[in-house]
Formats: sequence, C-alpha cells, structure tokens
Amino acid sequence: MLERLQDSFAKITKTLVGKSKITDKNIEEAIEEIKSALLEADVNLRVARRFINATAEEARGEKVLKAIDPGQQFVKIIYDKMVHLLGDERSELALRGPDVTSTILFLGLQGSGKTTNAAKLALHLKNQGRRVLLCAADLSRPAAVKQLEILGEQVGVPVFTGEHQDPISRAKAAVQEAKKHQYNVLIIDTAGRMQVDTDLMTEIKAISDAVNPDEKILVADAMLGQNAVDVAKSFDEAVEITGFILSKFDSDTRGGAALSLKSITGKPIKFIGTGEKVEALEIFHPERIASRILG
Ligand code: GDP
Repeated sequence: MLERLQDSFAKITKTLVGKSKITDKNIEEAIEEIKSALLEADVNLRVARRFINATAEEARGEKVLKAIDPGQQFVKIIYDKMVHLLGDERSELALRGPDVTSTILFLGLQGSGKTTNAAKLALHLKNQGRRVLLCAADLSRPAAVKQLEILGEQVGVPVFTGEHQDPISRAKAAVQEAKKHQYNVLIIDTAGRMQVDTDLMTEIKAISDAVNPDEKILVADAMLGQNAVDVAKSFDEAVEITGFILSKFDSDTRGGAALSLKSITGKPIKFIGTGEKVEALEIFHPERIASRILG
C-alpha cells in the first residue's frame, strides 16, 4: 500500500537529510517535488496547494535555516503537515454507554466494500466484548442480504432481516430488536448505487431520519482517489456523515483519497480496510500512516 507515494517522498527526503546548509534554491526544488508527488498521488488540487503553501512558509523560516540538520528539520515539517492532513489524531467511534444501544449506519456506493466492512466492524466490536447485531437493509441487490448473512455467520454476529421489505421499516424494526435484546451496537448495511443519484440520497436520508444513528460511516473506496472525495461530499451534503472507513487501502498505491478526505469534508477516517478477509480492518492512525509515507 502507498508504494508510489512512498517512492516519491523517499526521493525528496533523501535529497534533504544530511545537508549541513539549505539554500532557498534547495527549498524551492523540494517544494516543486512535493507538489508533483502530491498531484501524482491524486491528491485534491486545493488540498495540495494548501499543503505546499504551509510547508514552504515554514521551511523558509529561521527554524530550518538555523537548525543543526536543516534537512531533517524540513522533513519534520513535511511530516507534521502530513499528520495534520490525515486528521491529526486517531478518531474513535462515538458509542454510547453499555446500557444503551448505539446505531451505526453504513453508507457507500455499490462495490465500495460496504457489506464486507460492516461484517469487519462487527467482528472488531465483538472482539472488544460488545454484543453486536447486523441489519441487512440493502434491498436493492437481492444477493446483498445473503452476502451479509454469510459474513455474519463467519464473524459470529447475528443478522436481522425481519418481515419488512422496505429498507426504512426494516431499519426501524432492527432498532427495536436491538433495544429489546439489549445489543450494545447495531450496524445497518444500506443500499448503494453505481454512482451518486437522487433516489439513493433520498433513501439514505429517510433511513437516517428514521433511526437517528450515532454514527453515519461512509465506506469510501481508496482506489477511486479524488473521485472518492467527490462521492464523500455528496453523501455528506445529504446526511452529514460522521466519518469514513477507507476500504481497499491495501490496493491503493497512490494515497490521494487518504490525504484529501479529512481536509475536504472535515470528517475523520476512522478505519482502513486492508484486505478482503473479515479480520482485515485497522484503526486509522494518522501518525503511523505519515511515518509509513515518509519512511
Ligand atoms: P458493497 O457493494 O459496497 O457492499 O461492496 P462489497 O462489500 O460487496 O465489496 C466489494 C468487493 O470489494 C468485494 O470483492 C470485497 O471482497 C472487496 N473489498 C472490500 N473491502 C476490501 C478491502 O479493504 N480490501 C480489498 N482488497 N478488497 C476489499
């Protein structure tokens, strides 16, 4: 993951570190290279510009020019800015106390990894000792309910389907069921579409209004790069999402979505999907990802 981005930054840091003196020309050249690296990584242009301006301004300051190892100091600035871009701190799920059921709504385009990651998160929360219920409210794709039932069995988490054949009534019934049986967390899988459309937004808004979830998690496909950011903006405008699971991070060599989502939407990446298996979900740590990128 992130191989291309790592390669670009490895070159940049190699030319900086160890220099006993840094000139304005060195700074200009490094800034140009950072710019190309970010654009090649498919980072949103506005985000890239802001990053470059902030980094350049600080790099030209006294702290770098007078440092014992000015190159190292410069790299530290890039690292700090990157951590900031990725969201600064790890962002936890906003779950209620043990006696109240928390509801998490899963949103995303078809194929983004919504159903798989709903099961992954169910397993993650179950492993923390929580009682979890999944609800299959993706009724646009006949196979989706079956898929969640199979995954639910794999992770040992029950899947609610109920009697209702419309997603809003089903989601509401799932909330009642979860409360009645004192589940700690209810995760509702909703329908996706091939692309953002009005019908989809109307449906997810209606479900969201009906169940008033504690978390509205958008499963964003890292492979979509900047397009993932456009999708995120549309969902956020419709239902005010609370955060992301960035799926298929294992296959993302460029990192554009990871570096742009927080900055553009203001919403944090909470987890990354790192494979097809149900165990392949990791908490998103901005500092660790920045260290990985900068080596
Ligand atoms: P949905 O239509 O949004 O529910 O998407 P699915 O959950 O059916 O996932 C679509 C495809 O992406 C499946 O083949 C999944 O195995 C795959 N997938 C989901 N998450 C990840 C991930 O984190 N990494 C990789 N490599 N594949 C994933």
